[in-house]
Amino acid sequence: MPYRAEYIWIDGQKPTAKLRSKTKIVPEGEEPPIWAFDGSSTEQAPGAESDCVLRPVLVRPDPIRGDEDVLVLCEVLTIDMEPHPSNTRAPLVEVAEKYKHHEPWFGLEQEYTFYKDGRPHGWPSGGFPAPQGGYYCGVGADEIWGRDIVEAHTKACMDAGLAISGTNAEVMIGQWEFQIGPIGPVEVGDQLWMARWLLYRIAEDYDISAHLNPKPVEGDWNGAGMHTNFSTAAMRENYDAIIAACEALGKKADEHIKHYGAGIERRLTGLHETAPWTEYFYAVSHRGASVRIPWQVHRDQGGYIEDRRPNANADPYVVARLITDTVCSYLDGKT
Ligand code: ADP
Ligand code: MN
Ligand code: MN
Ligand code: MN
Repeated sequence: MPYRAEYIWIDGQKPTAKLRSKTKIVPEGEEPPIWAFDGSSTEQAPGAESDCVLRPVLVRPDPIRGDEDVLVLCEVLTIDMEPHPSNTRAPLVEVAEKYKHHEPWFGLEQEYTFYKDGRPHGWPSGGFPAPQGGYYCGVGADEIWGRDIVEAHTKACMDAGLAISGTNAEVMIGQWEFQIGPIGPVEVGDQLWMARWLLYRIAEDYDISAHLNPKPVEGDWNGAGMHTNFSTAAMRENYDAIIAACEALGKKADEHIKHYGAGIERRLTGLHETAPWTEYFYAVSHRGASVRIPWQVHRDQGGYIEDRRPNANADPYVVARLITDTVCSYLDGKT
């Protein structure tokens, strides 16, 4: 029997790239091959030279269609088989290779918001919901909207063999989180993009859309982030390396902020569990810090740090590249 391969790729939209996908029927016994698409429809090529190339990088069982079918995450190449300018994975692969002796691990917390009829899911038409306070990790139909989608998405990630490590309802109404990791930098980027695709696709069936908008509602409502938990072999063993990593991130704070997702200044206001985007500081157990050292990491004198700055709409390939590069080059310089 031939099978269906859903080819998934990241487009060229600015400032925030989006996911695209299309289906290929692959003959029985064959692997999903290199394929192509019309880059003039995805802001990746001019109409006169529109072809772009899809190269499979992660193939997983398709939890939606069935046992024979697969999801195929791809990177985008030009027809010369070079990384396309929109391809942020290729430069990450280089950095990950350069610093693999540090054994970097990432755990990403992807926050997102469900929308129904143009409003956050649960937001009443013509009025305001109860102020936030009861929604985080809440239970009951007065606190929770969209749990059926979350359950279906979690199971789908597990069935696709993704390293999903947990989920929770978030502080704002209709907002949720799932976590991927801890795994290596390239793996976490690939798996997060595939998990995002599954989220959008599964929510479709409920007539609801999932969004990564970093600040869905202005005012006294939490934004949506992609907290990035990070460690190296040295950090997992000793606290000096934890502090060194925090210091290293401070030296490149401006460069990181610029690449941590569009609209970051709307989310990192200094309120709602954020540090202002113009400042950098790290602290133990502090959810208003740029970088948090979890309390148990301080107690155990080793573990990981949490960079709380990346937006929900950040590109995990870019975030993982910057953090790996900044921290590992600093650790190398110190030894
Ligand atoms: P929070 O308390 O910030 O909500 P979560 O439980 O949502 O924390 O997320 C913590 C994340 O830390 C998880 O995604 C997990 O994979 C990740 N993590 C745990 N240990 C490590 C480690 N040694 N290196 C990198 N990430 C880690
Ligand atoms: Mn979390
Ligand atoms: Mn969260
Ligand atoms: Mn967190």
